[in-house]
Amino acid sequence: MKKKGIRFYFTIITIRIASKLMKLMGKNATHLPGWIANKMCPNFLQYMEKPEKLFYITGTNGKTTVSNIIADALKLNGYDFVNNAEGSNLNSGIITALLPRTTNGGKSKCKLAIMEVDERYSPKIFPYMAPDYLVCTNLFRDSCKRNGHAEFIRDILDSQIPAHTKMILNGEDLISNHLAWGNDRTYFGINCEDGHSTPDNIIKDIVACPKCGSKLDFEYIRYHHIGKGNCPNCDFGSPELDYKVNAIDYDKGYCTVETPKGSYDLKLIGNNVTDIYNMITAVAILTEIGLSNEEIIKSFDVAKLEATRFASEMVCGKEVIMQLAKGQNPIACSRVCDFIRHEKGDKVILLVEDDYYAMKDSSENIQWIFDIDWEFLKDDSIKQIVIGGVRHKDFELRLLMAGIEPSKMVCCEHEVDVAKYADLSLGEKFYILYNVYTIDDANVVHDSLVELLKNGGNV
Ligand SMILES: [Zn+2]
Repeated sequence: MKKKGIRFYFTIITIRIASKLMKLMGKNATHLPGWIANKMCPNFLQYMEKPEKLFYITGTNGKTTVSNIIADALKLNGYDFVNNAEGSNLNSGIITALLPRTTNGGKSKCKLAIMEVDERYSPKIFPYMAPDYLVCTNLFRDSCKRNGHAEFIRDILDSQIPAHTKMILNGEDLISNHLAWGNDRTYFGINCEDGHSTPDNIIKDIVACPKCGSKLDFEYIRYHHIGKGNCPNCDFGSPELDYKVNAIDYDKGYCTVETPKGSYDLKLIGNNVTDIYNMITAVAILTEIGLSNEEIIKSFDVAKLEATRFASEMVCGKEVIMQLAKGQNPIACSRVCDFIRHEKGDKVILLVEDDYYAMKDSSENIQWIFDIDWEFLKDDSIKQIVIGGVRHKDFELRLLMAGIEPSKMVCCEHEVDVAKYADLSLGEKFYILYNVYTIDDANVVHDSLVELLKNGGNV
């Protein structure tokens, strides 16, 4: 913590008053206080005392879900902690989350903090408030205009991690599991067949050894570059797992985990392989925080995925599923396609994916559409795909390249109209796929679809 000047004290008093005023006006002060603090006092974070134990959770996919599982488990077991679940995962969000537990003199009154951190923002956070523990769920290509490629992000993270930080890493991700190589570390992963993923993806973000450039040998690939591999010419390779899933029973709805503190069964939070990864990541973090096996088991007995990411309901005998498939993120979308094809029953897919956020910034980028494994949707169980939005022709072209029958596809220009074009007789399950910026449109589609199903196809 850096020595404070008058500017810091003036800023902290001002933002406390601003936060109270915002609350009185009924506004949610989840981001603005931190933003104002940085404007008034640059790098405000460096003047705040660190909580006693500070965990940062970063990575391309899964960090929000893992953070939510951790927060729910800590609440359930009566732990005192702060997190930034209500705010942003940038430095302003971390300041906003810590402020209520910081004195006017900058001292922390917080024993435990669990903060989700955008991997791109580590240089604005780590030098000013260093983590005791850093969790990296995985690193993949994502939002390429902003993030470049996975190794670029890996190098940014690697340059910012202090030597004393304990690393909690995905042992099956050869890009992120060598982060901060000299640091104390522990690894999590899946140690059995997951039954829901396939290695035949288009893209793989690591193929050559980052130390000597030789082509890596993979013992197995779970999906994309996630798996177990090693370099034939040097010591680069996958580590042994400390926290691992040893068995998964989807029918009975549980998995068996093995940790340094013993083995036990956990209730599954979902059927996707990414759900299993999020679970074992959370088990590693909760164990490192100090929760007992019994406390962790109890937490998973009641754990639920956040409704904004996955929700399912039965309407007149048909299942309507809202599923987040993050835009600009080909791996997240490919996982969803792979998951859907393995689900039972006939399916109709409604695509509400056009990225208005990117359009607004005049940075339209359709590369990610072409990186997604749409080939997984070339499956007999998928009876119809309705594509909505101004980019529907790009999606249609890519789906045709994937070998999807033209007769199975319907396009419309307005995303909110896709439900009208769905053939209700074709599916037992209706998947509405949307991204973070199209959730409002997806909700409109959901309501239209439910109304149509209830009225037998007539609005
Ligand atoms: Zn090598």
